[in-house]
Amino acid sequence: MEEIGHWINGKRVAGTSGRFSDVYNPATGEVQARVALASPAEIDVAVADAAKAQLDWQKVNPQRRARVMMKFGALIERDMDKLAEVLSREHGKTLPDARGDVQRGLEVIEVCMGAPAFLKGEFTGDAGPGIDLYSMRQPLGVVAGITPFNFPAMIPLWKMGPALSSGNAMILKPSERTPSTALMLAEIAQEAGLPDGVLQVINGDKEAVDTILDHETVQAVGFVGSTPIAQYIYGRAANNGKRAQCFGGAKNHMLIMPDADMDKAADALIGAGFGAAGERCMAISVAVPVGDAAADALIERLVPKIEKLKVGPYTGGDDVDYGPVITAAAKERILGLINSGVEQGANLVCDGRDFSLQGYEDGYFVGPSLFDNVTPEMDIYKEEIFGPVLSMVRAKTYEEALDLVIDNPYGNGTSIFTADGDTARDYAAKVNVGMVGINFPIPVPLSYYTFGGWKKSGFGDLNQYGPDAFRFYTKTKTVTARWFSGIKDGASLNFKALD
Ligand code: NAD
Repeated sequence: MEEIGHWINGKRVAGTSGRFSDVYNPATGEVQARVALASPAEIDVAVADAAKAQLDWQKVNPQRRARVMMKFGALIERDMDKLAEVLSREHGKTLPDARGDVQRGLEVIEVCMGAPAFLKGEFTGDAGPGIDLYSMRQPLGVVAGITPFNFPAMIPLWKMGPALSSGNAMILKPSERTPSTALMLAEIAQEAGLPDGVLQVINGDKEAVDTILDHETVQAVGFVGSTPIAQYIYGRAANNGKRAQCFGGAKNHMLIMPDADMDKAADALIGAGFGAAGERCMAISVAVPVGDAAADALIERLVPKIEKLKVGPYTGGDDVDYGPVITAAAKERILGLINSGVEQGANLVCDGRDFSLQGYEDGYFVGPSLFDNVTPEMDIYKEEIFGPVLSMVRAKTYEEALDLVIDNPYGNGTSIFTADGDTARDYAAKVNVGMVGINFPIPVPLSYYTFGGWKKSGFGDLNQYGPDAFRFYTKTKTVTARWFSGIKDGASLNFKALD
Protein backbone atom coordinates (compact mmCIF):
# COMPACT_ATOMS: atom_id res chain seq x y z
CA MET A 1 0.00 0.00 0.00
CA GLU A 2 1.17 3.51 -0.79
CA GLU A 3 2.74 5.26 2.17
CA ILE A 4 2.58 9.05 2.17
CA GLY A 5 5.32 10.82 4.13
CA HIS A 6 6.43 14.44 4.40
CA TRP A 7 8.30 17.01 2.27
CA ILE A 8 11.31 18.18 4.23
CA ASN A 9 14.33 20.10 2.92
CA GLY A 10 13.32 19.59 -0.69
CA LYS A 11 12.71 15.84 -0.58
CA ARG A 12 9.90 13.40 0.07
CA VAL A 13 10.79 11.60 3.27
CA ALA A 14 9.11 8.72 5.06
CA GLY A 15 7.64 9.33 8.49
CA THR A 16 9.55 7.97 11.46
CA SER A 17 6.95 8.20 14.23
CA GLY A 18 5.42 4.80 13.49
CA ARG A 19 1.98 6.42 13.59
CA PHE A 20 -0.22 6.49 10.49
CA SER A 21 -3.72 7.44 9.41
CA ASP A 22 -5.68 5.72 6.64
CA VAL A 23 -6.46 7.68 3.48
CA TYR A 24 -9.69 6.49 1.88
CA ASN A 25 -11.08 6.51 -1.60
CA PRO A 26 -14.42 8.10 -0.67
CA ALA A 27 -16.12 6.68 -3.77
CA THR A 28 -15.40 3.05 -2.84
CA GLY A 29 -14.73 3.20 0.90
CA GLU A 30 -11.41 1.43 0.34
CA VAL A 31 -8.21 2.43 2.08
CA GLN A 32 -5.94 3.56 -0.78
CA ALA A 33 -2.91 4.78 1.19
CA ARG A 34 -1.73 5.54 4.65
CA VAL A 35 -0.26 8.84 5.68
CA ALA A 36 2.48 9.28 8.27
CA LEU A 37 1.62 11.34 11.34
CA ALA A 38 4.60 13.45 12.35
CA SER A 39 6.04 13.26 15.85
CA PRO A 40 7.20 16.34 17.80
CA ALA A 41 10.81 15.33 17.05
CA GLU A 42 10.18 15.34 13.29
CA ILE A 43 8.56 18.76 13.55
CA ASP A 44 11.49 20.11 15.57
CA VAL A 45 13.90 19.15 12.79
CA ALA A 46 11.65 20.57 10.05
CA VAL A 47 11.23 23.87 11.91
CA ALA A 48 14.94 24.22 12.71
CA ASP A 49 15.88 23.62 9.06
CA ALA A 50 13.17 26.00 7.89
CA ALA A 51 14.56 28.70 10.20
CA LYS A 52 18.03 28.28 8.64
CA ALA A 53 16.64 28.36 5.09
CA GLN A 54 14.53 31.43 5.88
CA LEU A 55 17.60 33.52 6.74
CA ASP A 56 18.82 33.25 3.15
CA TRP A 57 15.35 33.45 1.59
CA GLN A 58 14.57 36.79 3.24
CA LYS A 59 17.74 38.21 1.67
CA VAL A 60 16.59 37.27 -1.82
CA ASN A 61 15.21 40.51 -3.20
CA PRO A 62 11.41 40.75 -3.42
CA GLN A 63 11.37 40.79 -7.20
CA ARG A 64 13.38 37.58 -7.43
CA ARG A 65 11.06 35.94 -4.92
CA ALA A 66 8.15 37.13 -7.06
CA ARG A 67 9.79 35.51 -10.08
CA VAL A 68 9.68 32.17 -8.24
CA MET A 69 5.95 32.77 -7.82
CA MET A 70 5.67 33.53 -11.54
CA LYS A 71 7.32 30.22 -12.44
CA PHE A 72 5.32 28.42 -9.74
CA GLY A 73 2.10 29.70 -11.30
CA ALA A 74 3.14 28.59 -14.77
CA LEU A 75 4.04 25.10 -13.53
CA ILE A 76 0.77 24.77 -11.62
CA GLU A 77 -1.00 25.55 -14.87
CA ARG A 78 1.13 22.98 -16.70
CA ASP A 79 0.25 20.34 -14.09
CA MET A 80 -3.39 21.35 -13.62
CA ASP A 81 -4.81 18.02 -14.79
CA LYS A 82 -2.38 15.93 -12.72
CA LEU A 83 -3.12 18.00 -9.63
CA ALA A 84 -6.87 17.71 -10.20
CA GLU A 85 -6.60 13.93 -10.55
CA VAL A 86 -4.59 13.52 -7.33
CA LEU A 87 -6.99 15.85 -5.54
CA SER A 88 -10.17 14.09 -6.73
CA ARG A 89 -8.78 10.65 -5.90
CA GLU A 90 -8.54 11.58 -2.21
CA HIS A 91 -11.34 14.13 -1.91
CA GLY A 92 -13.93 12.66 -4.28
CA LYS A 93 -14.94 15.94 -5.96
CA THR A 94 -15.53 15.99 -9.73
CA LEU A 95 -12.58 16.79 -12.00
CA PRO A 96 -13.97 20.14 -13.22
CA ASP A 97 -14.52 21.12 -9.58
CA ALA A 98 -11.01 19.94 -8.67
CA ARG A 99 -9.58 22.07 -11.48
CA GLY A 100 -11.53 25.01 -10.01
CA ASP A 101 -9.94 24.24 -6.63
CA VAL A 102 -6.47 24.48 -8.20
CA GLN A 103 -7.45 27.52 -10.27
CA ARG A 104 -8.67 29.60 -7.32
CA GLY A 105 -5.39 28.85 -5.53
CA LEU A 106 -3.37 29.68 -8.63
CA GLU A 107 -5.07 33.08 -8.79
CA VAL A 108 -3.61 33.94 -5.38
CA ILE A 109 -0.15 32.92 -6.63
CA GLU A 110 -0.72 35.27 -9.59
CA VAL A 111 -1.30 38.18 -7.18
CA CYS A 112 1.87 37.15 -5.31
CA MET A 113 3.81 37.76 -8.54
CA GLY A 114 3.22 41.41 -7.60
CA ALA A 115 4.26 40.93 -3.98
CA PRO A 116 6.96 43.65 -4.09
CA ALA A 117 4.23 46.27 -4.46
CA PHE A 118 2.57 45.02 -1.26
CA LEU A 119 5.85 44.89 0.63
CA LYS A 120 6.81 48.52 0.09
CA GLY A 121 7.20 50.71 3.14
CA GLU A 122 6.35 54.38 3.56
CA PHE A 123 8.61 57.44 3.60
CA THR A 124 8.24 61.01 4.87
CA GLY A 125 11.13 63.33 4.07
CA ASP A 126 11.72 66.36 6.30
CA ALA A 127 9.40 65.15 9.02
CA GLY A 128 11.36 67.62 11.20
CA PRO A 129 14.68 69.48 10.84
CA GLY A 130 17.01 67.01 9.09
CA ILE A 131 14.59 64.22 10.00
CA ASP A 132 13.32 61.47 7.72
CA LEU A 133 10.78 58.93 8.80
CA TYR A 134 10.32 55.62 7.05
CA SER A 135 8.75 52.22 7.60
CA MET A 136 9.59 48.82 6.21
CA ARG A 137 7.82 45.48 6.13
CA GLN A 138 9.92 42.55 7.24
CA PRO A 139 9.06 38.84 7.16
CA LEU A 140 8.13 37.15 10.43
CA GLY A 141 10.47 34.16 10.05
CA VAL A 142 8.96 30.67 10.21
CA VAL A 143 5.17 30.63 9.93
CA ALA A 144 2.67 27.76 9.85
CA GLY A 145 -0.34 26.92 7.69
CA ILE A 146 -2.86 24.33 8.89
CA THR A 147 -5.49 23.47 6.30
CA PRO A 148 -8.73 21.49 5.91
CA PHE A 149 -9.66 18.56 3.66
CA ASN A 150 -12.18 20.31 1.44
CA PHE A 151 -9.88 22.48 -0.73
CA PRO A 152 -6.63 20.49 -0.87
CA ALA A 153 -5.00 22.84 -3.43
CA MET A 154 -6.69 26.21 -3.02
CA ILE A 155 -6.24 26.75 0.69
CA PRO A 156 -2.60 25.58 0.91
CA LEU A 157 -1.89 27.96 -2.00
CA TRP A 158 -3.69 30.80 -0.18
CA LYS A 159 -1.27 30.22 2.68
CA MET A 160 1.92 29.53 0.74
CA GLY A 161 1.76 32.38 -1.77
CA PRO A 162 1.64 35.42 0.53
CA ALA A 163 3.80 33.83 3.25
CA LEU A 164 6.62 32.74 0.94
CA SER A 165 6.63 35.77 -1.34
CA SER A 166 6.93 37.94 1.80
CA GLY A 167 10.18 36.16 2.64
CA ASN A 168 9.00 33.72 5.30
CA ALA A 169 9.54 29.99 5.53
CA MET A 170 6.39 27.93 5.98
CA ILE A 171 5.49 24.73 7.79
CA LEU A 172 2.36 23.53 6.02
CA LYS A 173 0.22 20.88 7.74
CA PRO A 174 -2.47 19.77 5.28
CA SER A 175 -5.47 17.65 6.21
CA GLU A 176 -4.53 14.06 6.90
CA ARG A 177 -7.58 13.05 4.84
CA THR A 178 -6.31 14.69 1.63
CA PRO A 179 -2.52 14.90 2.05
CA SER A 180 -1.15 14.30 -1.47
CA THR A 181 -1.97 17.56 -3.27
CA ALA A 182 0.11 19.72 -0.92
CA LEU A 183 3.11 17.40 -1.38
CA MET A 184 2.77 17.72 -5.12
CA LEU A 185 2.55 21.51 -4.83
CA ALA A 186 5.77 21.51 -2.78
CA GLU A 187 7.54 19.54 -5.53
CA ILE A 188 6.30 22.02 -8.12
CA ALA A 189 7.45 24.97 -5.98
CA GLN A 190 10.92 23.44 -5.81
CA GLU A 191 10.97 23.08 -9.60
CA ALA A 192 10.01 26.77 -9.77
CA GLY A 193 13.13 27.68 -7.82
CA LEU A 194 11.98 27.76 -4.20
CA PRO A 195 15.03 26.91 -2.10
CA ASP A 196 14.96 23.69 -0.08
CA GLY A 197 13.71 24.08 3.47
CA VAL A 198 11.68 27.23 2.79
CA LEU A 199 8.51 25.15 2.44
CA GLN A 200 8.18 22.07 4.66
CA VAL A 201 5.03 19.97 4.30
CA ILE A 202 4.41 17.96 7.42
CA ASN A 203 1.57 15.49 7.61
CA GLY A 204 0.01 14.83 10.96
CA ASP A 205 -2.86 15.13 13.35
CA LYS A 206 -3.53 16.93 16.64
CA GLU A 207 -0.10 15.97 17.99
CA ALA A 208 1.63 17.70 15.08
CA VAL A 209 -0.64 20.73 15.31
CA ASP A 210 -0.09 21.15 19.05
CA THR A 211 3.67 20.89 18.57
CA ILE A 212 3.52 23.65 15.96
CA LEU A 213 1.33 25.82 18.22
CA ASP A 214 3.76 25.49 21.12
CA HIS A 215 6.94 25.81 19.06
CA GLU A 216 8.94 28.89 20.02
CA THR A 217 10.33 29.41 16.52
CA VAL A 218 6.95 29.49 14.79
CA GLN A 219 5.85 33.13 14.64
CA ALA A 220 2.39 32.94 13.09
CA VAL A 221 -0.34 30.43 12.40
CA GLY A 222 -2.81 30.60 9.52
CA PHE A 223 -5.58 28.06 10.07
CA VAL A 224 -8.64 27.02 8.11
CA GLY A 225 -11.06 24.34 9.32
CA SER A 226 -14.06 23.81 11.57
CA THR A 227 -15.11 26.40 14.15
CA PRO A 228 -14.31 24.48 17.37
CA ILE A 229 -10.77 23.74 16.13
CA ALA A 230 -10.32 27.29 14.79
CA GLN A 231 -11.26 28.70 18.18
CA TYR A 232 -8.98 26.26 19.98
CA ILE A 233 -6.03 27.01 17.69
CA TYR A 234 -6.57 30.76 17.93
CA GLY A 235 -6.55 30.59 21.73
CA ARG A 236 -3.50 28.37 22.02
CA ALA A 237 -1.44 30.20 19.39
CA ALA A 238 -2.32 33.64 20.78
CA ASN A 239 -1.57 32.48 24.29
CA ASN A 240 1.87 31.49 23.06
CA GLY A 241 2.38 34.99 21.66
CA LYS A 242 1.92 34.08 18.01
CA ARG A 243 0.00 35.93 15.37
CA ALA A 244 -3.01 33.84 14.45
CA GLN A 245 -5.75 34.03 11.87
CA CYS A 246 -8.15 31.10 12.16
CA PHE A 247 -11.06 30.67 9.79
CA GLY A 248 -13.89 28.39 10.82
CA GLY A 249 -17.16 26.86 9.68
CA ALA A 250 -20.22 28.48 8.22
CA LYS A 251 -23.98 28.54 7.78
CA ASN A 252 -24.53 30.65 4.70
CA HIS A 253 -27.98 32.07 3.96
CA MET A 254 -29.39 33.18 0.63
CA LEU A 255 -32.30 35.63 0.77
CA ILE A 256 -34.69 35.44 -2.15
CA MET A 257 -36.89 38.52 -2.44
CA PRO A 258 -40.32 38.27 -4.12
CA ASP A 259 -39.02 40.34 -7.06
CA ALA A 260 -36.05 38.02 -7.75
CA ASP A 261 -35.68 36.08 -10.97
CA MET A 262 -36.86 32.73 -9.55
CA ASP A 263 -35.32 30.62 -12.31
CA LYS A 264 -31.92 32.17 -11.73
CA ALA A 265 -32.32 31.91 -7.95
CA ALA A 266 -33.21 28.22 -8.17
CA ASP A 267 -30.21 27.51 -10.43
CA ALA A 268 -27.98 29.38 -7.99
CA LEU A 269 -29.31 27.35 -5.04
CA ILE A 270 -28.67 24.08 -6.84
CA GLY A 271 -25.03 24.98 -7.59
CA ALA A 272 -24.29 26.60 -4.24
CA GLY A 273 -26.19 24.05 -2.16
CA PHE A 274 -25.15 20.79 -3.75
CA GLY A 275 -21.86 21.50 -5.58
CA ALA A 276 -18.94 19.57 -4.06
CA ALA A 277 -21.59 17.63 -2.06
CA GLY A 278 -22.11 20.76 0.05
CA GLU A 279 -18.58 20.47 1.42
CA ARG A 280 -17.68 24.12 0.86
CA CYS A 281 -17.38 26.73 3.57
CA MET A 282 -19.14 29.12 1.17
CA ALA A 283 -21.91 26.64 0.26
CA ILE A 284 -25.43 28.02 0.63
CA SER A 285 -27.08 25.76 3.18
CA VAL A 286 -30.10 27.94 4.04
CA ALA A 287 -32.50 29.46 1.51
CA VAL A 288 -34.64 32.25 2.97
CA PRO A 289 -37.45 33.18 0.60
CA VAL A 290 -39.39 36.27 1.65
CA GLY A 291 -43.11 35.50 1.43
CA ASP A 292 -44.87 32.21 0.71
CA ALA A 293 -45.25 32.99 -2.98
CA ALA A 294 -41.46 33.16 -3.40
CA ALA A 295 -41.01 30.00 -1.31
CA ASP A 296 -43.57 28.03 -3.34
CA ALA A 297 -42.12 29.27 -6.63
CA LEU A 298 -38.69 28.10 -5.54
CA ILE A 299 -39.83 24.67 -4.33
CA GLU A 300 -41.61 24.16 -7.63
CA ARG A 301 -38.37 24.87 -9.52
CA LEU A 302 -35.93 23.18 -7.16
CA VAL A 303 -37.56 19.75 -6.91
CA PRO A 304 -37.23 18.72 -10.58
CA LYS A 305 -33.67 20.06 -10.70
CA ILE A 306 -32.72 18.12 -7.56
CA GLU A 307 -34.29 14.95 -8.94
CA LYS A 308 -32.09 15.28 -12.03
CA LEU A 309 -28.79 15.69 -10.14
CA LYS A 310 -26.29 12.94 -10.96
CA VAL A 311 -24.25 11.77 -8.01
CA GLY A 312 -21.22 9.58 -8.71
CA PRO A 313 -17.47 9.03 -8.57
CA TYR A 314 -15.13 11.54 -10.20
CA THR A 315 -14.32 8.88 -12.76
CA GLY A 316 -18.02 8.63 -13.68
CA GLY A 317 -17.98 10.99 -16.67
CA ASP A 318 -18.60 14.65 -17.37
CA ASP A 319 -22.22 14.62 -16.34
CA VAL A 320 -21.56 13.75 -12.69
CA ASP A 321 -22.71 16.74 -10.63
CA TYR A 322 -21.13 15.87 -7.32
CA GLY A 323 -19.27 13.06 -5.60
CA PRO A 324 -19.14 11.34 -2.24
CA VAL A 325 -18.60 13.06 1.10
CA ILE A 326 -15.20 12.66 2.68
CA THR A 327 -15.55 9.83 5.24
CA ALA A 328 -17.96 7.21 6.55
CA ALA A 329 -18.25 9.27 9.74
CA ALA A 330 -19.19 12.40 7.73
CA LYS A 331 -21.88 10.40 5.91
CA GLU A 332 -23.29 9.04 9.19
CA ARG A 333 -23.36 12.51 10.71
CA ILE A 334 -25.19 13.98 7.70
CA LEU A 335 -27.76 11.16 7.71
CA GLY A 336 -28.21 11.64 11.47
CA LEU A 337 -28.89 15.34 10.98
CA ILE A 338 -31.42 14.65 8.20
CA ASN A 339 -33.20 12.23 10.56
CA SER A 340 -33.20 14.90 13.27
CA GLY A 341 -34.80 17.37 10.85
CA VAL A 342 -37.64 14.92 10.16
CA GLU A 343 -38.07 14.20 13.89
CA GLN A 344 -38.09 17.91 14.75
CA GLY A 345 -40.86 18.63 12.26
CA ALA A 346 -39.22 20.01 9.11
CA ASN A 347 -40.75 18.96 5.81
CA LEU A 348 -38.31 16.71 3.89
CA VAL A 349 -39.29 17.50 0.31
CA CYS A 350 -36.41 15.59 -1.34
CA ASP A 351 -34.92 12.69 0.60
CA GLY A 352 -31.33 11.68 -0.20
CA ARG A 353 -30.93 9.22 2.67
CA ASP A 354 -31.38 5.97 0.77
CA PHE A 355 -29.16 6.87 -2.15
CA SER A 356 -27.06 3.97 -3.40
CA LEU A 357 -24.92 3.58 -6.49
CA GLN A 358 -24.42 0.26 -8.18
CA GLY A 359 -20.80 -0.85 -7.92
CA TYR A 360 -20.11 1.79 -5.24
CA GLU A 361 -22.29 0.51 -2.43
CA ASP A 362 -19.53 1.12 0.14
CA GLY A 363 -18.79 4.66 -1.08
CA TYR A 364 -19.73 7.66 1.04
CA PHE A 365 -22.47 8.97 -1.24
CA VAL A 366 -25.41 10.97 0.06
CA GLY A 367 -28.27 11.90 -2.23
CA PRO A 368 -29.46 15.53 -2.40
CA SER A 369 -31.97 16.53 0.28
CA LEU A 370 -34.26 19.55 0.50
CA PHE A 371 -36.07 20.61 3.65
CA ASP A 372 -38.92 23.13 3.74
CA ASN A 373 -40.42 24.83 6.83
CA VAL A 374 -37.18 24.72 8.79
CA THR A 375 -37.10 26.83 11.98
CA PRO A 376 -34.08 28.29 13.80
CA GLU A 377 -34.53 25.93 16.80
CA MET A 378 -33.93 22.80 14.70
CA ASP A 379 -30.54 21.06 14.69
CA ILE A 380 -30.45 21.13 10.86
CA TYR A 381 -30.50 24.93 11.15
CA LYS A 382 -28.09 25.25 14.06
CA GLU A 383 -25.41 22.81 12.85
CA GLU A 384 -23.10 23.19 9.89
CA ILE A 385 -24.20 20.02 8.03
CA PHE A 386 -21.39 20.14 5.42
CA GLY A 387 -23.31 17.83 3.11
CA PRO A 388 -25.78 17.97 0.19
CA VAL A 389 -28.68 19.27 2.27
CA LEU A 390 -30.50 22.53 1.59
CA SER A 391 -32.83 23.95 4.25
CA MET A 392 -35.54 26.47 3.53
CA VAL A 393 -36.55 28.90 6.27
CA ARG A 394 -39.58 30.92 5.20
CA ALA A 395 -39.56 34.59 6.25
CA LYS A 396 -42.58 36.89 6.15
CA THR A 397 -40.64 40.11 5.59
CA TYR A 398 -37.21 41.33 4.50
CA GLU A 399 -36.55 42.58 8.06
CA GLU A 400 -37.29 39.13 9.50
CA ALA A 401 -34.92 37.52 6.98
CA LEU A 402 -32.20 40.07 7.73
CA ASP A 403 -32.55 39.51 11.49
CA LEU A 404 -32.26 35.75 10.99
CA VAL A 405 -28.88 36.18 9.33
CA ILE A 406 -27.75 38.81 11.85
CA ASP A 407 -28.64 36.50 14.76
CA ASN A 408 -26.85 33.47 13.28
CA PRO A 409 -23.56 32.79 15.07
CA TYR A 410 -21.69 32.23 11.79
CA GLY A 411 -20.75 35.00 9.37
CA ASN A 412 -18.80 33.63 6.44
CA GLY A 413 -20.83 34.32 3.31
CA THR A 414 -24.36 35.34 2.36
CA SER A 415 -26.28 36.24 -0.74
CA ILE A 416 -29.40 38.14 -1.74
CA PHE A 417 -31.34 37.65 -4.94
CA THR A 418 -33.45 40.66 -5.86
CA ALA A 419 -34.17 43.07 -8.72
CA ASP A 420 -34.28 46.01 -6.32
CA GLY A 421 -31.05 47.94 -5.89
CA ASP A 422 -32.15 49.64 -2.68
CA THR A 423 -32.86 46.35 -0.93
CA ALA A 424 -29.58 44.84 -2.13
CA ARG A 425 -27.67 47.89 -0.96
CA ASP A 426 -29.40 47.90 2.41
CA TYR A 427 -28.63 44.20 2.89
CA ALA A 428 -24.94 44.58 1.99
CA ALA A 429 -24.63 47.51 4.41
CA LYS A 430 -26.45 45.98 7.39
CA VAL A 431 -25.63 42.28 7.37
CA ASN A 432 -22.87 41.19 9.78
CA VAL A 433 -21.23 38.70 7.42
CA GLY A 434 -17.77 38.97 5.83
CA MET A 435 -18.59 38.21 2.19
CA VAL A 436 -21.83 39.25 0.48
CA GLY A 437 -23.20 38.28 -2.93
CA ILE A 438 -25.85 40.25 -4.82
CA ASN A 439 -27.52 37.95 -7.31
CA PHE A 440 -24.34 35.92 -6.85
CA PRO A 441 -24.57 32.78 -4.74
CA ILE A 442 -20.97 32.02 -3.74
CA PRO A 443 -19.24 35.39 -3.32
CA VAL A 444 -15.65 34.17 -2.86
CA PRO A 445 -13.77 37.41 -3.55
CA LEU A 446 -11.21 37.46 -6.35
CA SER A 447 -7.61 37.07 -5.30
CA TYR A 448 -6.78 40.80 -5.29
CA TYR A 449 -9.53 41.41 -2.72
CA THR A 450 -9.50 39.33 0.45
CA PHE A 451 -11.31 36.40 2.05
CA GLY A 452 -12.57 36.21 5.60
CA GLY A 453 -15.67 35.50 7.63
CA TRP A 454 -17.03 37.29 10.70
CA LYS A 455 -18.39 36.05 14.02
CA LYS A 456 -17.67 32.35 14.60
CA SER A 457 -16.40 31.95 11.04
CA GLY A 458 -13.15 33.80 11.71
CA PHE A 459 -10.89 34.46 14.68
CA GLY A 460 -8.14 37.06 14.36
CA ASP A 461 -8.20 40.44 12.71
CA LEU A 462 -6.80 40.12 9.19
CA ASN A 463 -8.11 38.18 6.21
CA GLN A 464 -6.63 35.60 3.89
CA TYR A 465 -4.95 36.66 0.60
CA GLY A 466 -4.96 40.12 -0.96
CA PRO A 467 -3.33 43.06 0.85
CA ASP A 468 -4.37 41.75 4.29
CA ALA A 469 -2.27 38.60 3.84
CA PHE A 470 0.89 40.61 3.25
CA ARG A 471 0.18 42.54 6.44
CA PHE A 472 -0.39 39.31 8.32
CA TYR A 473 2.88 37.75 7.16
CA THR A 474 5.07 40.82 7.75
CA LYS A 475 6.00 43.06 10.66
CA THR A 476 6.25 46.81 10.30
CA LYS A 477 9.42 48.51 11.49
CA THR A 478 9.51 52.32 11.61
CA VAL A 479 12.78 54.26 11.49
CA THR A 480 13.24 57.90 12.53
CA ALA A 481 16.53 59.22 11.11
CA ARG A 482 18.19 62.59 11.71
CA TRP A 483 21.19 64.11 9.91
CA PHE A 484 22.86 67.01 11.69
CA SER A 485 24.27 69.23 8.94
CA GLY A 486 23.06 72.81 9.45
CA ILE A 487 21.04 71.99 12.58
CA LYS A 488 21.77 73.65 15.89
CA ASP A 489 19.85 71.72 18.51
CA GLY A 490 20.90 71.45 22.11
CA ALA A 491 20.11 68.52 24.39
CA SER A 492 16.54 68.40 25.66
CA LEU A 493 14.94 66.07 28.16
CA ASN A 494 11.43 66.82 26.96
CA PHE A 495 9.31 64.63 24.71
CA LYS A 496 8.40 67.18 22.07
CA ALA A 497 7.04 67.76 18.60
CA LEU A 498 9.49 67.54 15.66
CA ASP A 499 9.69 71.18 14.68
P1 NAD B 1 -11.07 20.27 10.79
O1 NAD B 1 -11.24 21.39 11.74
O2 NAD B 1 -11.50 18.91 11.21
O3 NAD B 1 -9.53 20.13 10.37
C1 NAD B 1 -8.77 21.23 9.90
C2 NAD B 1 -7.31 21.02 10.27
O4 NAD B 1 -7.19 20.97 11.69
C3 NAD B 1 -6.72 19.72 9.74
O5 NAD B 1 -5.42 19.98 9.27
C4 NAD B 1 -6.71 18.81 10.95
O6 NAD B 1 -5.65 17.87 10.93
C5 NAD B 1 -6.54 19.77 12.12
N1 NAD B 1 -7.22 19.30 13.34
C6 NAD B 1 -8.37 18.58 13.42
N2 NAD B 1 -8.69 18.36 14.70
C7 NAD B 1 -7.72 18.93 15.47
C8 NAD B 1 -7.51 19.06 16.87
N3 NAD B 1 -8.36 18.52 17.75
N4 NAD B 1 -6.43 19.74 17.30
C9 NAD B 1 -5.58 20.29 16.41
N5 NAD B 1 -5.72 20.20 15.06
C10 NAD B 1 -6.79 19.55 14.59
O7 NAD B 1 -11.82 20.70 9.43
P2 NAD B 1 -12.08 19.82 8.15
O8 NAD B 1 -13.15 18.81 8.45
O9 NAD B 1 -10.80 19.35 7.54
O10 NAD B 1 -12.67 20.92 7.15
C11 NAD B 1 -14.01 21.29 7.08
C12 NAD B 1 -14.30 22.52 7.90
O11 NAD B 1 -13.49 23.61 7.45
C13 NAD B 1 -15.74 23.02 7.75
O12 NAD B 1 -16.21 23.44 9.00
C14 NAD B 1 -15.62 24.19 6.80
O13 NAD B 1 -16.64 25.16 6.90
C15 NAD B 1 -14.31 24.76 7.22
N6 NAD B 1 -13.71 25.59 6.18
C16 NAD B 1 -13.64 26.93 6.41
C17 NAD B 1 -13.10 27.77 5.44
C18 NAD B 1 -13.00 29.24 5.68
O14 NAD B 1 -12.23 29.89 4.98
N7 NAD B 1 -13.71 29.80 6.63
C19 NAD B 1 -12.63 27.22 4.24
C20 NAD B 1 -12.72 25.84 4.05
C21 NAD B 1 -13.26 25.04 5.03
